Amino acid sequence: MTDFSGTTGLIFNEPLLWEKGRKGRTGMSLPRRDVGTYALDESLCGDGPDFPDLSEPEVARHYVRLSQWNFGVDSGLYPLGSCTMKYNPKLNEKMASLQGFTGAHPLLPAELSQGALRLMFELERLLAEITGMDAVSLQPAAGAHGELAGMLIIHAYHKSNGAARSKIIVPDTAHGTNPASAALCGYKPVAVKSNEQGVLSPEAVAEIMDSETAGIMITNPNTLGLFERSIREIAEIVHKKGGLVYGDGANMNAVMGIVRMGDIGVDVQHLNLHKTFSTPHGGGGPGAGPVCVKKNLEKFLPVPRIIENHGAYSLSYDSAESIGKIHAFYGNFGVMIKAYGYILSMGAESLKKASQLAVLNANYIKAKLKDVFHLAYDQPCMHECVFSDKLQKQNGVTTLDIAKRLIDYGFHPPTVYFPLVVSGSIMIEPTETESKEDIDQFVEACKAVVAEAKENPELLHAAPTRTKVRRLDETNATRHPCLTG
Ligand SMILES: *Cc1c(COP(=O)(O)O)cnc(C)c1O
Repeated sequence: MTDFSGTTGLIFNEPLLWEKGRKGRTGMSLPRRDVGTYALDESLCGDGPDFPDLSEPEVARHYVRLSQWNFGVDSGLYPLGSCTMKYNPKLNEKMASLQGFTGAHPLLPAELSQGALRLMFELERLLAEITGMDAVSLQPAAGAHGELAGMLIIHAYHKSNGAARSKIIVPDTAHGTNPASAALCGYKPVAVKSNEQGVLSPEAVAEIMDSETAGIMITNPNTLGLFERSIREIAEIVHKKGGLVYGDGANMNAVMGIVRMGDIGVDVQHLNLHKTFSTPHGGGGPGAGPVCVKKNLEKFLPVPRIIENHGAYSLSYDSAESIGKIHAFYGNFGVMIKAYGYILSMGAESLKKASQLAVLNANYIKAKLKDVFHLAYDQPCMHECVFSDKLQKQNGVTTLDIAKRLIDYGFHPPTVYFPLVVSGSIMIEPTETESKEDIDQFVEACKAVVAEAKENPELLHAAPTRTKVRRLDETNATRHPCLTG
C-alpha cells in the first residue's frame, strides 16, 4: 500500500478549545496602558463570556488539526458521482471577495448597485445562451429549489390555461429531489421505468402520458451517466398531450457547449451553479440553482426580474402572473459572482473542452475497471459511470466495504447505492479536473481493493483502518449525534 496517498499516523487527536485552555494563557499582548483604570459595575458584567484562554500556537494548531480531519477536492480525487466535485479555480473566490461585492447591501437602491445588477443580468444572459433558453431567474438557492421553482412555473402555466393537472412523470433513475419537488407542488409523481439500455423509451412515456399529466422531469444525461437519446421524441409526446418538459440540469458538466436542452424539447431547466460553475459545495452550501425557461414561461418567473434599459439596470416587480418571490432578496449573490467569473475566464471553447474531458475521464475509468467491477450498463457513458458489487458479493464483500477500504488508500469514496435502479451501485464521476496519472492511481487502488476482497474479505469488513475514526454506526450517528468530537 506504500504507493498510495492514504492517511498515515500524522493525524492528531484534538480536544475542544475549552478542554485545552488554561486560565491566564493568552495569544496576544496589548500596549502598555496610558490611561487610568476604573472599576466596572460588577452587577452589569455577570460572569462574562465563557471563552477559553489559549496561546496563539494552540489556536493555530487546533484549527489546522481540525482541517486535517477533513477531505476536500483540494486534498485529492473526489469521485462522488452525481455531485461533480471538481476543482474550482481560486480566481473565482478572489473575484467574489472583491470589496465592491462584499460591501454591497441588498437594500441599496438600484442606482447604487449598478455593477451587481449588471453582473446578474449578464449571468442570466450567459446561462440562457448555454442552456438554449430565453429567460433565467437566479433566485433559487440549490438544485432542489430550482426544481421547486420549475414545478411552480409548470403549475402556474397550466392554471393560466384553465387546466388543473394532477400528475408528473418521473423516471426511475431520477434524483430523489425530483419526485419530492413535484409532490411539494401537489403533483403525484408517476414513475416510468428506464429500458434495458438504462434510458427512457418513448413508448413507455407514451403509455402513461395523458391529459391529467402536467409534464415530465428528465435528467439529461441521466443519473446512470447515460444520455437520454430519445428526449426529442419524448418531448413531442408530452407536448402533444399539453404537458411540459422539465430538465434537471444537475449533470450539465457533461454537455456544456455541446448540447443545449432548450434545443431538444426542454421547456424549463435548472442548473446547479455549485456543481457545474465553480462553487465548492462539499460542506453543504451556499449554492445556486437558477431556473431557465422558454419565452412562453417567462411571465411566470420569480420576481424581482432584472431589467436593462439603455445600459441602466433596475429591478422589476411588475409581473402579475409571477410565482412570486422564492428567496430573500435575489438569491445567493456570492455564488453568482463565481459562476460569472468562471464562464468569462473559461470562454465558450474551454467550457466545451471541460465537458469533453469530463466525459473522456469517465469513459477511461469505465474501460479500465470494467474487468474488475460489474458494469451495470455496458455502453459509452457521459461524465460518470456506474458499477456494482455483484462480483465481490460472492465473497461477502459489499459496495460499502469497498468504499470504506478506498479511504485507506487515500481516496474519497464514489457515490454508493445510488442510483437505486442498480443494486449495490458504485457511481464514479472523476470530473475534468484529474490528470491521467491521478486517475491511474485511483484505478490501481480499486484493483488492489478488489484483490483484497478475494483474498482477505475480513480486511474490507474492518475498513477503514487508517483513519482517525473507524467504521461508524451510521444509524446511531444520525439518531444520537455526538457533536463534541
Ligand atoms: C445534486 C442533484 C440535484 C439536487 O441539487 P441540490 O443542489 O443538491 O439541491 C438534483 N438532481 C440531480 C440529478 C442531482 O445530481
